Amino acid sequence: MARIKQGVFSWEDVLAQQYQNNKPTGLPRSRRYSALQGQRTPPKPDTRTEWTIQHQSALLARLSPELRLMIWEMVLGGMRIHIVQRTNRRMGHILCPRTGSCEICRGGHRSMKDVPGRLLALSMTCKQIYCESIGMLYSLNTFEFSNTWSLTYLRPTIPGDFWDAIRAVELRWAFPGHFLPCKDTVKSIYFSAGRQQWVETCQAVTCMPGLQTFTLQLSGSWFCEPVEKIPVFLEPLRELHLRQRWKLQLPQQPYYVEEIRNIDGDLRKRGIECLVRAV
Ligand SMILES: [Zn+2]
Repeated sequence: MARIKQGVFSWEDVLAQQYQNNKPTGLPRSRRYSALQGQRTPPKPDTRTEWTIQHQSALLARLSPELRLMIWEMVLGGMRIHIVQRTNRRMGHILCPRTGSCEICRGGHRSMKDVPGRLLALSMTCKQIYCESIGMLYSLNTFEFSNTWSLTYLRPTIPGDFWDAIRAVELRWAFPGHFLPCKDTVKSIYFSAGRQQWVETCQAVTCMPGLQTFTLQLSGSWFCEPVEKIPVFLEPLRELHLRQRWKLQLPQQPYYVEEIRNIDGDLRKRGIECLVRAV
């Protein structure tokens, strides 16, 4: 657990405290490792994947497993899921309608409400369907993190095997300038979201065992950060090696559009495996 400095010394400290204070509570530890049980009590058997065959159910008893899995896949796959932060350190989700009118895709998020039942309705029908389908929810959808810090906040709130099953991630991170004086010109770019938080987020991404596609969208402010800072900013992602290059989307400001070739060349030189474009 990160140590919190006593007192506030800089803007970076304010963000670090905010980051720690807003972290959602993680899942409770498995009872098998409960301190109350100690070593003497034998661990309880894991019954999460056990169910009784429901002979009365035509769907479950008559359809072959292959057909059932195809149905679950059609219901649960192919979605874009916005992960959002709610009040009281809760995490939530909103299904992206992909219509162009999505408020979160356009940069907002406050007024949209998640519909918790919809995403999990099928999996929560019974234990058998849950066991057969829940993994698909994580492996067959794109998880989009628009709120800064959401990625590292989500991780402790879902079981590790679900986290490991995630294959597609889109991350939006603010890359604006700032008005705060700072002697360290490199560090200054982190003020919008916090350097520690950025590094932690990158570490979490590079350690995702199932990750196949990753898109980082850098959002800019009305003025531009020097392009030289981008490779430095992206350094923590150097260890991200995917089968295909991950995608870097820059703000569509003329300054960045004109510099794409130079940015791309610089990133390649540094061994950062991404495809650059401006959106
Ligand atoms: Zn959306």
